[in-house]
Amino acid sequence: MAYTAKTRLFIEDSLPGSGLIDLDKGQTHYLANVMRVTEGTRINLFNGRDGEWQCLVTHASRKSVSLLVEEKVRDQKTEPDVWLVFAPIKKARIDFMAQKATELGASKLIPLLTARTNTDRVKVDRLALNAIEAAEQCERLNVPEVTEPIKFKTLMEEWPSERRIMFCDEMRNAESAIHALPKGSPPPPWAIFIGPEGGFDDRERETLAAQEGCVSVSLGPRILRADTAAMAALSLWQATLGDW
Ligand code: SAM
Repeated sequence: MAYTAKTRLFIEDSLPGSGLIDLDKGQTHYLANVMRVTEGTRINLFNGRDGEWQCLVTHASRKSVSLLVEEKVRDQKTEPDVWLVFAPIKKARIDFMAQKATELGASKLIPLLTARTNTDRVKVDRLALNAIEAAEQCERLNVPEVTEPIKFKTLMEEWPSERRIMFCDEMRNAESAIHALPKGSPPPPWAIFIGPEGGFDDRERETLAAQEGCVSVSLGPRILRADTAAMAALSLWQATLGDW
């Protein structure tokens, strides 16, 4: 059956499971009261494991929506493995960053507490909701994991040696990302590091530069705001090593 993008919802349940699905309160509100779906409407479900499934709305009221799972419309596929490790920024912009990083294919979002991080209050649930909504809209088959904020020192002490680092270094003496990123397919797992508004401090910079597999990159001659830098870095990574 040809894939046609309908209203898409991310669920945790297995698919097709028992074939009958009752949606939770939030999704019921979204479908019944926002999208105003009625019985007979078809929507798609995905859970990041079992592909995408077309479902028929068998019951729709303000209080509950039930679905019958009909057939698989897309197989699950492996997405590029690239983490976004970023120092938290102000609320509105961090939501924006979570949405755009999801659209640009980040596989995990890690809020990083650095020496110059000026906010450590990160609403992880809210970031996860932003990531789910963005994944539903951009036709991803999975949703990036959003972790609790972690201190720079702790993250680097536990760093998985097989994962390479793209260190976005605003000190501008690094090579352009396009040239600096080593080509090679399939790429190993990567992580993109974006500093706080005040930048990484010298000790953090030394730790990153000394990390095996770390590549320092420049994102051009201008100082980009952290959210812009994250979008530029993810785009360059996808165009160089990812699925673009
Ligand atoms: N510390 C900087 C300054 O001089 O004000 C600004 C930091 S910038 C707003 C936030 C983060 O974005 C940086 O830590 C870096 O990771 C990334 N970034 C911004 N512009 C960049 C550039 N031209 N090249 C590489 N990374 C950049």
